[in-house]
Amino acid sequence: MPQKQTWLLTAGGQIQCRRCQGTSRRTGLQCGAPAEQHSEKCRFHGSRATGPITLEGLERCAQAKWKGLGDTRAQRALDRQAMQLVKVCGEVLKAIQT
Ligand SMILES: [Zn+2]
Repeated sequence: MPQKQTWLLTAGGQIQCRRCQGTSRRTGLQCGAPAEQHSEKCRFHGSRATGPITLEGLERCAQAKWKGLGDTRAQRALDRQAMQLVKVCGEVLKAIQT
């Protein structure tokens, strides 16, 4: 992946401003728009996003958070229970064999 450019010259090279650090999902190239003043992204790439603010929004985000493909908190909880079951079964088998 090529290094992203931090600065951008606009207005015919008269104004230097920060360049948006977003990437086009269509072309894969760095966004060519200037970044908003308080952000490193342009208005199209989420400079005004604040993330969840209300408690309901935070909870909804936490529930929906993905760590990877098919990996949710609910799925990890199920996996944890399944591993505990496997562990108990292994201990029972070991006790029977001895
Ligand atoms: Zn952008």
